[in-house]
Amino acid sequence: PLDKNELGRNSWSLLHTTAAVYPDKPNQGQQEDMKQFISLFSRLYPCTYCAEDFQKDIAEHPPKVETRSALSRWFCDRHNTVNRKLGKPEFDCDLVDERWRDGWKD
Ligand code: FAD
Repeated sequence: PLDKNELGRNSWSLLHTTAAVYPDKPNQGQQEDMKQFISLFSRLYPCTYCAEDFQKDIAEHPPKVETRSALSRWFCDRHNTVNRKLGKPEFDCDLVDERWRDGWKD
């Protein structure tokens, strides 16, 4: 059966990791692909009310697909919108590369 939290964790992992390896200078086709991926993801996400809220949030905050760092920040902001809705602490988006690309410094 569908576990909403497990699905969420795995989905964020996919989304943030996809942004982390997105090109610094994507060509037009790569930018179009990313917009379509986000649009289709938001319509197919298998938690209906989550998907509806996500679509509204995306309509208010259109995807920033011009660079890797802009996209990573954009996903971080979208995730923080969900965090706020669920009463979870917000994540510091200055740390998004450390978390999802480079690994934590120790
Ligand atoms: P998660 O929120 O899943 O986060 C996983 C890890 O990501 C964290 O441990 C942290 O290291 C990192 N992280 C946290 N915040 C950020 C950030 N802002 N940027 C980058 N990294 C971060 N659940 C609901 O109950 N209701 C909903 O309406 C809902 N909508 C969702 C919409 C989408 C598009 C997605 C992908 C998920 C949604 N979820 C929703 C699931 C929810 O966001 C969480 O995944 C779930 O509650 C499990 O939370 P968690 O505490 O394990 O950590």
